[in-house]
Amino acid sequence: MSHELIALPAFSDNYIWALCSGDHALVVDPGDPAVVDHWISQNRLQLDVILITHHHTDHTGGLLPLLNRHKAQVFGPDENIQGLTHVLSGGETLKVGAFGSVTVLPVPGHTLGHIAYYLPEQELLFAGDTLFSAGCGRLFEGTAAQMYASLQSLAALPDSTRLCCAHEYTASNLRFAASVEPGNPAVTRRQHEVEALRAAGKPSLPVTLGLERGYNPFLRCHIPAVAQAASLQGNTPTDTTESTFAALRAWKDRF
Ligand code: ZN
Ligand code: FE
Repeated sequence: MSHELIALPAFSDNYIWALCSGDHALVVDPGDPAVVDHWISQNRLQLDVILITHHHTDHTGGLLPLLNRHKAQVFGPDENIQGLTHVLSGGETLKVGAFGSVTVLPVPGHTLGHIAYYLPEQELLFAGDTLFSAGCGRLFEGTAAQMYASLQSLAALPDSTRLCCAHEYTASNLRFAASVEPGNPAVTRRQHEVEALRAAGKPSLPVTLGLERGYNPFLRCHIPAVAQAASLQGNTPTDTTESTFAALRAWKDRF
């Protein structure tokens, strides 16, 4: 059974990721119910599964309105979210109907309960606001150490994994990546690619983890040039990959 993946744009820069298998549909982080309803009715689908990564309204706002009209299973973290049918803490493996198995990864940092969903058969990663293309989420609730460990667990997935992030932040993240590593040709290549995609009205996503490793500074804390740039900018020693990550994140917050 072939699966079709689509990024439904919502608000100014969100993506609601949607997957269908025959006429069965799954959506991730439906912040805006109208966007999902439109896609479901246009394609005559049945909304079976909703996955939530974290409690922020731009990811959860459509949940209750959608549940008024659709009978879906709703998975999400233990973050006081109304409408969940299954509360997850991370570490679970689920079987979700037509979509196969889903591994739930605990990725605290942006929020404390944040989870990511990995679908090994489809080589898909729904990362919410944890890992962005060329960037990572802000630390609203967790520590730099927590976020770094979370990113490391996502980075352990295969190169062929397609990263689906919840926001179109790629172009601005790449401007930061270029400041961190001005001599990295992978940054320039991705900048050109993203410029062309955006000019054509297309999302810059999904993108493979294999490519991300080449230019995302937050996945490159072990690279000496990255550690050096972070140390210089933060005026702080970066003698561990974790301290490099903390200095990079603080730099990005000021950037
Ligand atoms: Zn968020
Ligand atoms: Fe968000």
